[in-house]
Amino acid sequence: MNQIDWGNLTFSLTPTKSMFISHWENGTSWTGGELIPFGDIPMSPAAGVLNYGQGIFEGLKAFRTAKDRIILFRPDKNIERAILSAERLCIPIVPSDLFMDGLLKVVKDNSEYIPPSDKGSLYIRPIIWGTGPVLGVAPASSYTFLIYVSPVGPYFKSGIRCLNLRVTKKYHRAAPCGVGGYKTIGNYAASLYPQKLAKSSGFDEVIYLNARDDESIEEVGSANIFIVKDKMILTPPLGGSILPGVTRDSVINISREILGLDIEERSISLSEMMEADEVFCTGTAVSVTPIGKITSDDSVGIINENKIGNVTLALNTELISIQKELKDDPFGWLIQV
Ligand SMILES: *Cc1c(COP(=O)(O)O)cnc(C)c1O
Repeated sequence: MNQIDWGNLTFSLTPTKSMFISHWENGTSWTGGELIPFGDIPMSPAAGVLNYGQGIFEGLKAFRTAKDRIILFRPDKNIERAILSAERLCIPIVPSDLFMDGLLKVVKDNSEYIPPSDKGSLYIRPIIWGTGPVLGVAPASSYTFLIYVSPVGPYFKSGIRCLNLRVTKKYHRAAPCGVGGYKTIGNYAASLYPQKLAKSSGFDEVIYLNARDDESIEEVGSANIFIVKDKMILTPPLGGSILPGVTRDSVINISREILGLDIEERSISLSEMMEADEVFCTGTAVSVTPIGKITSDDSVGIINENKIGNVTLALNTELISIQKELKDDPFGWLIQV
């Protein structure tokens, strides 16, 4: 049995028992996959992923629910997205049934690492990358599909806290017609420096602007952004440079179907955001998190007196209640493990 102190989990890696692995060689198909002990993986120094960043990832969670079941939250959406990301990077597509089989196997085998319902969840990290050696820039000749898991605590230890963000005008996250809409590993390497600069000035994260107009808002580091103004919820439309978040889609559905609120996907200007009633961001890791303070050049916007707003709180509560089976899931989003 593991010795995990459930009360002190943070959003960081805790090694677990096993990981799921499958291989693809040129001219074959993905192997059926197997569980192997969690640990390091040997690789050629010339691996496509190490030299040219040919890799994609996913992130989703398994929850132990109030009904004492173990569930995956909308894994079909992650699988769908992984297929699109793989296609974009010339990585052979992992069939959805193999992907789902891997998710179920690794979660079952590591079920003792899933925290109690009120203490956190099991973060699941699928990765697919070019393993084969390449010297010139080209797709690799072999690939690896791996899923590892880690128990994680709530993103904020002492309850929900409002984020303090800075709008960056010096860096873009994603270019038009680039790879921002896919979970390619290189996007995140490129975000480290702007994030580091923001953190060293006391901010939690960065808000990126659209690279074409430098005026409309796009995303927060690795979370989607929403604003609330006069009872209307707004979020920027997916246009290729915004990552199509599963949490983003869930929040849109919850707003419409459960809370009966108007929601629109349209471009949002920086000044509109600064004057919003509420601003929040969404993602598997952060769930629905309020943004209380936004700095852009010399102007500072305090949103809702730096407190979580009613709409943000309602969305956060509804989402978590569905995930933890504190209330019924009217959407069919939960898959039992
Ligand atoms: C993963 C990610 C998100 C959030 O997506 P979810 O599916 O909700 O976890 C948002 N933006 C970026 C850039 C991401 O990488």
